[in-house]
Amino acid sequence: MIVDSCMDRNKGKPVALEYLEQLGVDVATCVKLVVATHWHNDHTRGIREVLSQALEARFVCARAMRREEFSTALGFAREPTHAPLRELESAWELMRTRAEGMMWASANRTLLKTGMATVTSLSPGDEAETRSLEEISRLIPDLGSNRRREVSHTPNQLSVVLWIEHEHGSVLLGGDLEREKDPRLGWQAIINSTERPEGRAAVYKVAHHGSANADDDGIWEELLESRPAAFVTPFRCGLKPLPSVEDRERILARTSRLYIAARPDLSRSVRRDSVVEKTVRFVAGRLKATEGDMGQIRYRSESDTIETFGPAAQYP
Ligand SMILES: [Zn+2]
Repeated sequence: MIVDSCMDRNKGKPVALEYLEQLGVDVATCVKLVVATHWHNDHTRGIREVLSQALEARFVCARAMRREEFSTALGFAREPTHAPLRELESAWELMRTRAEGMMWASANRTLLKTGMATVTSLSPGDEAETRSLEEISRLIPDLGSNRRREVSHTPNQLSVVLWIEHEHGSVLLGGDLEREKDPRLGWQAIINSTERPEGRAAVYKVAHHGSANADDDGIWEELLESRPAAFVTPFRCGLKPLPSVEDRERILARTSRLYIAARPDLSRSVRRDSVVEKTVRFVAGRLKATEGDMGQIRYRSESDTIETFGPAAQYP
């Protein structure tokens, strides 16, 4: 299974393909699922290319969609300008030519069962789906739109969360799902679910790059073992790089086994002479850090070992 995609800028190739090729895995026959957790650039870059190589894979997307994704997927949107929607459009187009077809992730749905592992999606839940239908129905003007409430989701609110049970334990992949006020949505819906797979995970891909709005006591107390291995991917393109120092401290209070795939605060580590700094800011107006090298964290379930590559490392 390949979950989400990003590009190795130096090699111009999706990172997952690069990695599996290195291991000698035949992507065309061995990959059974390609999952797009949600439609944000940092999760979808190159996913169409991944799909085009994974000839036997089914493509998994959240059953609950936003208006934009619905109209793009169904092909009646104007030429999408947003990069993730362009990936969606061509991925969807590609899947129409395949026998395997699409697969829709929703709460507590088994996506794959093999002798080695079972993969279950834990989200989006029923309430997110209900609201998604309401949001989409606004595209149909005849339905008496004045009676319906205005609903609009962010992609993170509809993110797919995955639960993987394997011979030696379980893994929780948190996507970018956030915490919500309504207990029927977001992480609360998963935590409160009585139908989700039993047991606790020993490994957690921390939701939404470790940000506070995606963290909930219930994740640590109900879904995870004590002192799980926590893996965080940094996000540097926002106004505030994630995970922040506070985010890292908050996660460290839960487990000392925290790993980060690359340095989150790359931009801040650059120190320039104050005159140079002033001139650069005067000329450029706004500065943004480049992405830097890709790091990797590898967890092996049989041996329960964690290895890091490139700038990835245990924190602190
Ligand atoms: Zn993200």
